[in-house]
Amino acid sequence: MAHYLIELRQRGPKTSNFSVGLGLSSLETRMELDWQVCSQARVTRDARFDGKFFIAVLTSRVYCRSICPAPPAKEVNVRYFPTAAAAAEAGFRPCLRCRPECSPGTPAWVGTPNTVSRALRLISESGLEEGGVEALAERLGVGSRHLRRLFLQHLGATPSAVAKTRQMHFAKKLIDETNLLMSDVALASGFGCVRRFNAGIRKVYHRTPTQIRRLARQRMVQAENQYLFRLRFRPPYDWKGMLAFLAPRATPGVEVVVNGIYRRSISSNGNDGYFEVSLDEGNNVLVVRLQFGDPRSLFFITERIRTMFDLNADWAAIVQSLRTDPVLARQVDSGPGLRVPGCWNGFELATRAILGQQITVRGATLLAGRIVTRFGKPFCSADGLTHLFPAPEMLADAKLTRIGLTGARAETIRALARAVCDGRVNFESVSDSETLLNRLCEIPGIGKWTAQYVAMRALGEPDAFPSGDLGLMRAMALETSRELEHRAEAWRPWRAYAAMYLWKVAQSAFGGNGPAPSQAQKVTTEGSSTHGHVSPLSDVAMRN
Ligand SMILES: [Zn+2]
Repeated sequence: MAHYLIELRQRGPKTSNFSVGLGLSSLETRMELDWQVCSQARVTRDARFDGKFFIAVLTSRVYCRSICPAPPAKEVNVRYFPTAAAAAEAGFRPCLRCRPECSPGTPAWVGTPNTVSRALRLISESGLEEGGVEALAERLGVGSRHLRRLFLQHLGATPSAVAKTRQMHFAKKLIDETNLLMSDVALASGFGCVRRFNAGIRKVYHRTPTQIRRLARQRMVQAENQYLFRLRFRPPYDWKGMLAFLAPRATPGVEVVVNGIYRRSISSNGNDGYFEVSLDEGNNVLVVRLQFGDPRSLFFITERIRTMFDLNADWAAIVQSLRTDPVLARQVDSGPGLRVPGCWNGFELATRAILGQQITVRGATLLAGRIVTRFGKPFCSADGLTHLFPAPEMLADAKLTRIGLTGARAETIRALARAVCDGRVNFESVSDSETLLNRLCEIPGIGKWTAQYVAMRALGEPDAFPSGDLGLMRAMALETSRELEHRAEAWRPWRAYAAMYLWKVAQSAFGGNGPAPSQAQKVTTEGSSTHGHVSPLSDVAMRN
């Protein structure tokens, strides 16, 4: 067990600061928790470090988040771990007060070794599937021993320990936050049978599931199939900015943005439902209200919402790269906490990106609404949601020119739909982004811009960057994409965040007062904006 304990590198007070150690600025610093940083974050209960490391207390054998409200233990009795799984593997139990299962997820570990972040994404989407670590390693194109070694090196725990801890944490969350029968909790968190679930919970928490549920402080009466989840993030979080981006792009009937709330219809494993998300700023939480019939999908749905709203982002690390550029530094200071909006469904997002290639955001939203009315599945629900976005099968042969698309755009969307139907393009459980993007680019009408935009928003690639975008070039007052690419080297591995900021710059400089629908006329693509009219031909050449 002690095998997994991370060796701490103690630094002198003069050399330690918050930007080093946990700032993920280089491969070397990622491996080591900086004792000074951890200690200071622990004593001050700093929410910016929530989920970036865990505190284990030798005397109580319990591990905590950096924000635990319990009186801090003596430093000499404390050990720091990079992940909850590492603390669990070392024999510590999750704290019942700060509830490590509620902490924001492990930040994106980009750059080297990409394998770890891809593996984490796969585990978070579907756990360790049949075949376990061997199968996971094979999907990632590495040996299973190598994968284990990488995990131990970077996360302090093996892939199976990470998957096991996630499963346990989700079960605990369902016990605490829902009224589901324990047999449903067992099923939803992937334990298979109630006996194994009971035994697992008792072993970790030294209590039965029922005893734990009694302990849960604020239980709410929830109607059947309705859930309330509180998903944490590391502050700051620019929720207003997130909604300002999503609102003009909300597909009528499928998505609604109103009064600080984002709402949408969803489908998973043959079941339909919807969720809505709002901000509880004081608690660094997004509140999710979910209506869904099958508890087995709860894990997938909550994880997808986490990705969609970029809740695992580590602002402290992102800001380090972006601040080095004067244009971005101003943006970072005036609008901290920006996130890259993800999506619920990759096919839907890619379709929207294609629709937006030649026309205004408003025009694309209008067309998306027509596609939904014509080809989407009707969905009975109040609050502005009337349809589910059409499945690829519905669009593979759809007569899209009848609702106003050009022949070329219609064919591109059909080709995309067919590629998804026959499995050539699969947005789910992506283990290799590059292969997926290359396959997308094989579809006539999908080029580098669209692929990079999909990488940003559907694959959650923090370094994706549509360098051919006119809006981005204009925001930086640059003439060519080559110049932009050169300048953007300094923003790695967070170029997607830079792009989001630069689109804001372009919008306020050339496209009116931000992405308000009335001003969206001048916005020519999903993300970029240009001044006045741009010839559709040059526009397409730039960004398909
Ligand atoms: Zn605690």
